[in-house]
Amino acid sequence: MRDPDCLFCKIVAGELPSQRVYEDDLTVAFMDINPATPGHMLVVPRAHSEDLLAAEPRDLEAAIVTAQRQARVAKERLGVEGVNLLNSCGAAAWQTVFHLHIHVIPRYPDDQMRLPWTPAPGQLDEIAAVAARLR
Ligand code: 5GP
Ligand code: ZN
Repeated sequence: MRDPDCLFCKIVAGELPSQRVYEDDLTVAFMDINPATPGHMLVVPRAHSEDLLAAEPRDLEAAIVTAQRQARVAKERLGVEGVNLLNSCGAAAWQTVFHLHIHVIPRYPDDQMRLPWTPAPGQLDEIAAVAARLR
């Protein structure tokens, strides 16, 4: 339920300070200390799980619903037209804090956010081959 060494467990418990913007029985939303854009929030389940793969479905469901809520709040209160939701699962996928969290990142016309890849058409046979491994 709780990892004594986990930064976000300490934030959830109120043992470390944060700018908390929403909470309910299963989740907490607070401001990211290194915001990618103004209004960048993190949504976490109260219960500790290392990442998306390890989370109980109930906690994951609650977290995505809270992320939806905070995305709506960002649109209403900050007047942004778009919001990115981002989850990094595993160190290889940029995760740095190992308590499941969903980034809620409001988007502004002149912000610095960019796609991390350059979209380009793939080879259809390669797409089909990897699809076969995923079925
Ligand atoms: P990750 O890299 O794991 O997807 O995201 C971790 C996020 O946690 C980063 O965006 C980072 O800025 C944020 N973060 C790290 N330490 C703290 C902290 O002590 N307080 C808050 N509010 N955010 C933090
Ligand atoms: Zn934790």
